[in-house]
Amino acid sequence: MGQLTGSSRLECKVCHKVHRNVARLLWPMAPDAWLEVGVGERLEAELTPDICLLPCNGEIRHFLRGHLQLPVDDNDFGTFVWSVWVELSEADMTAVARTWDDADRERLLPLQGTLATALPYEQPTRGLPVLVHTRKPGEVPLLVVDSTSHHRLAWEQLRGIGVHRAAELAGKIDH
Ligand SMILES: [Zn+2]
Repeated sequence: MGQLTGSSRLECKVCHKVHRNVARLLWPMAPDAWLEVGVGERLEAELTPDICLLPCNGEIRHFLRGHLQLPVDDNDFGTFVWSVWVELSEADMTAVARTWDDADRERLLPLQGTLATALPYEQPTRGLPVLVHTRKPGEVPLLVVDSTSHHRLAWEQLRGIGVHRAAELAGKIDH
């Protein structure tokens, strides 16, 4: 995973340390399915920082990168972001591609996708239903986990986390 880091100047209420250089933006280069297909399929795949079209068992799977944003209750830190992959239907990926360069592309209605990246939570994150909100050109789509999934990720996205929790999440990722 790649990462960008943030810092807090405040002593942590949980562990009483000051958390410095905690990852606040983490991104895997490809959807997890990339590692599950053969070399031949990867050679035929298309992979950019924003999209991945991956041949898999004779079909093409469609992945888009988006941001899952977890608000952090410390203004110095900013937002904790999982920059991850979501799988879309072919029709929805076509709609995304068709409007990609439109100045008003954020008017595209939110799309239904499924999370395609394993994140360090007790319950699996791959397959979680997410809504994909297209944003203005230059901004990565915003992913919102379905709150009826009762997943901790959905809850943290809604309620936010502390810097201590951000450090804990980032610490579970191999950099
Ligand atoms: Zn702490």
